[in-house]
Amino acid sequence: MSAIERFDVVVVGSGIVGLGAALAAVDRGCSVLVIDRASEIAGASVRNFGHLCFTPQSGLARDYAMASREIWLRLAHDAGFWIDDAGTLVVARHDDELQLLRELAAQRLPRSPGAAVEVELLTADEIETLAALPAGTAVGGARLPLDLQVDPRFAAAAIRDHLLGRGVEFRMRTAAGRIASGRVDTSRGPVDAGTIVVAVNHDIDQLFPVMAERYGVVRCGLDMMRVTADLPRPLTGPLLTGWSLIRYSAFTSMAASSDVRDRLTAERPELAALDLNQMYTQRPDGSLIVGDSHWKGESVSPFQPEDAARALLDEFESLFQHRADVVERWQGVYATAGEEFLIEEIEPDVLVTVVTTGIGMTTGLGLAEKVVGAHLDTHSRTLTESTML
Ligand SMILES: Cc1cc2nc3c(=O)[nH]c(=O)nc-3n(C[C@H](O)[C@H](O)[C@H](O)COP(=O)(O)OP(=O)(O)OC[C@H]3O[C@@H](n4cnc5c(N)ncnc54)[C@H](O)[C@@H]3O)c2cc1C
Repeated sequence: MSAIERFDVVVVGSGIVGLGAALAAVDRGCSVLVIDRASEIAGASVRNFGHLCFTPQSGLARDYAMASREIWLRLAHDAGFWIDDAGTLVVARHDDELQLLRELAAQRLPRSPGAAVEVELLTADEIETLAALPAGTAVGGARLPLDLQVDPRFAAAAIRDHLLGRGVEFRMRTAAGRIASGRVDTSRGPVDAGTIVVAVNHDIDQLFPVMAERYGVVRCGLDMMRVTADLPRPLTGPLLTGWSLIRYSAFTSMAASSDVRDRLTAERPELAALDLNQMYTQRPDGSLIVGDSHWKGESVSPFQPEDAARALLDEFESLFQHRADVVERWQGVYATAGEEFLIEEIEPDVLVTVVTTGIGMTTGLGLAEKVVGAHLDTHSRTLTESTML
């Protein structure tokens, strides 16, 4: 009978949260196995905008976001993938949107000499130039200089390759079944582990359905597309619109946010019904990622109604005054719940780490460092003893 393999840390899920967990573990000298039931990294972590929106977060998300920022910069250097530090652009097309940006800028003033400016207010001319918009589109805007952008299709794979080089083992096409303290039963047999990290995004409702129901986790399906368009100049950063100002927590905590929400909902009920977040990122090849709509439920329909895609294209063409040619369409899914994170040690040394809203690229690496790293630090004596057995 062959002996059961043993690792200090087994991570279930090779998306950005799982990769972050593997990084936190290998940084602490652990032996690490990452398993994923897919043959490639193909979940939400490659289907997103690649927008690392640190500034509009608050509370725990802000802590994780700022920790993530350092890790993204380090990884981009160490793993050698493209990262852009030009910051996020926000176009205000109405006075209430500009008012919200002014409130945020006043709240995020640098507290000490030399501290970074987090929100730079822009004139209408400035935002139109930086975001390739026609004259007369904006009443003003802002730049959020701390924010970063990556190309998600390449970043996750580059991080995996970097981790491989540091001795982390990846076992793809391998599904986790029963998970209990010390052991993961996989579709290739059992594996023993000092610590198990479950980073399976919305599939948490399959692995731990009772816990997922307790947290009110459902799935959120998003329609996305990649387009080419003959814009007069490139975007100088991810571009958010008023629809984004009613989403991210630091924006929604501003007094003007309810004015923006009420007006947009009254003016464009059909877009509000799609739960639209009209935003854009431009990839290094010049094509633009366009999104997104949101549909929440226990399952996500495999059939994508064309009205969402039509609305995304219409809004693109009306904003930029340029035709968009669709290159690709896809659907993304993430877990969503009342709180932004589901973090629980469901059994001793079994950590569940799920970002339960659409900010996992922004916060996932920091979450992994703060939750998994802190757990390993606390349990380092046990770990060293078990590794030496
Ligand atoms: C369309 C879209 C746009 C988004 N835009 C942004 C953005 O711009 N900025 C931002 O911060 N966030 C964004 N997000 C959110 C972000 O992408 C996610 O929060 C993040 O990628 C989640 O990472 P993850 O590692 O938890 O999940 P995933 O990347 O989905 O990885 C989970 C992995 O678990 C594996 N798995 C599941 N069950 C099992 C099992 N039983 N056994 C083995 N493996 C299993 C899956 O195969 C998958 O590979 C967006 C999300 C979507 C869908």
